[in-house]
Amino acid sequence: MNDRTPEQPADTVARLRATFRSGRTQPLAWRTTQLRRLRDMLTTHGADLAEALHADLGKSSTEAFRTEIDFTIREIDHTLEHLADWLRPEPAPVPAHLGADATAHTQYDPLGVVLVIAPWNYPVQLLLTPLLGALASGNVVVVKPSEMAPATSSALARLLPRHLDTDAVAVVEGAVPETTALLAERFDHIFYTGNGTVGRIVMRAAAEHLTPVTLELGGKSPAFVDRGADLSVVADRLVRGKFLNAGQTCVAPDYVLTDPETARALEPEFARAVEALFGADPQSSREFGRIVNERHFDRLAALLDSGRTVTGGGTDRATKYIAPTVLADVDPKSPVMREEIFGPILPVITVADLGEAIEFINDRDKPLALYAFTESDRTRERLAAETSSGGLGFGLPLAHLTVSDLPFGGVGESGMGNYHGRYSIETFSHRKAVLSKPLG
Ligand code: NAD
Repeated sequence: MNDRTPEQPADTVARLRATFRSGRTQPLAWRTTQLRRLRDMLTTHGADLAEALHADLGKSSTEAFRTEIDFTIREIDHTLEHLADWLRPEPAPVPAHLGADATAHTQYDPLGVVLVIAPWNYPVQLLLTPLLGALASGNVVVVKPSEMAPATSSALARLLPRHLDTDAVAVVEGAVPETTALLAERFDHIFYTGNGTVGRIVMRAAAEHLTPVTLELGGKSPAFVDRGADLSVVADRLVRGKFLNAGQTCVAPDYVLTDPETARALEPEFARAVEALFGADPQSSREFGRIVNERHFDRLAALLDSGRTVTGGGTDRATKYIAPTVLADVDPKSPVMREEIFGPILPVITVADLGEAIEFINDRDKPLALYAFTESDRTRERLAAETSSGGLGFGLPLAHLTVSDLPFGGVGESGMGNYHGRYSIETFSHRKAVLSKPLG
C-alpha cells in the first residue's frame, strides 16, 4: 500500500475479504498469535497509550492502566486460556427417526469481515475488546477509533499495524464522512459502541446488506439506595463509580433513587466521600479527569442548576473542568433528568418506597445498568424480577463488566447483543448446525 494515497474503504474491505477467503484466519494458531501480539503491544506501549489517554481525557495513568490497558490484557488472557474449549464443536442428540447412525453437532464459523466502531470515552478498551473477540473468532476486522479522542486514535493507528497481521486488521481513522463511507460497504457484522442516534444510522446502513449488528449504547443507569443501607459505604462506592473518567462512563450510575430521609442522610456522606477521593480541591487532583470537549462541557455546565448543590458545582471552561457534583431536590422533569448525563453530576431523586422506585425505572428507557444498595433479599428479588436492564449490580457499580464470564450489553434503548469472554465468540461467530448420516 502506498502511504500517501489512503486506501478507499471498498479496497480495504476487498483486501481483508481476500485474506478471509484464503482461510488464513481460521486456524486456532493464527488467532492466538494475533491475541498474543495485541498483548505485546499493550505491555510494550502501555505508557504511550496512557499518555494519549491523558491528552484526550486527562485520564491519570493509574486509571488508564486499570480501566483500559490492564482491563484489555485480562480479557486477552482469559480468552487465550479458554478459546480452544469455547470453539469445540458441541454434539447434539439426534431424534430416533434419523436412525441410530446419524450424528449432529454445532460448530462456530467465523463471520468474515467485521467492522468495529468505537467511542471516545474508553477509546482503547472499547476498540480493542471487540477487536480481540472478533480475531479470536477467526474474522478479519476493520476498526474505526473515535475522532473525538484524537491522540488515542492516532496512537492506535500507528501501533496496531506494527503488531497485527495487516492483511487481516485495518485501522480507518476519521469522523462522520469516513464512517459513512465505511458503512456503505458490505460487512458480515458491525459492532458499534456509542449513542442511540448514531446507533440508528448504523443499523439502517447495516439493513441494506442484511448485516447483523451489535449496538452497545448508553442511557440513564439508576442507583437505588434502600432504607437502612450503610450510607458511608454507599456514598464511597457511588462516588467512585460515578466520578471515574469524570463521569464519562456508559455504565456510570446516572442518578440516585431513594426515600427522602435517606436522601438527606446521604448528603454529608457524599461530600465526605468526594473529599476522601479527590481531596478538598478536586481541580488539583491528578486522579480526576476532564470533559472531552467544549461542546460536552457547555452541555454539562447547563445541567448544574437542575437542583440544590450538595457538593461541587464549580467549573473552568479553559481546562474543561467540571467539579464532582451532587445535586439534591432534583425535579424528575428537570434538564439533568431528560438525557444521559455522561459527566460528573449526580442528581438525587426521591421516591416514597421500592414500589415507586420500580415504577420510576419502568416508566423510562431500559437502562444499560441498574444498581441497588440494600441488605434485603426481598428487595434484590423484586428488582431482579420486576425491572429490565442490560446488567444488574448489587452493592458495587461498574464491577459487573469486569467479570469476563458475564455478557456485557444493553437491552432496548441501551442496545442489543453483548460481548466479553465467550459471549464475544457467540457474537462474532455463526453457530452452524451440522448433521451427518452415513451413506451405507
Ligand atoms: P462518539 O461521538 O465517539 O461516537 C461513536 C462513534 O460513532 C465514533 O467512532 C464516531 O466517529 C461515530 N459516528 C459519530 N457520528 C456518526 C455518524 N453520523 N455516522 C456514522 N458514524 C458516526 O461517541 P458517543 O456516541 O458520544 O459516545 C457516548 C455514548 O456512548 C453514550 O451514550 C454512552 O453511554 C455510550 N457508550 C456505551 C458503551 C457501551 O459499552 N454500551 C460504552 C461507551 C459509551
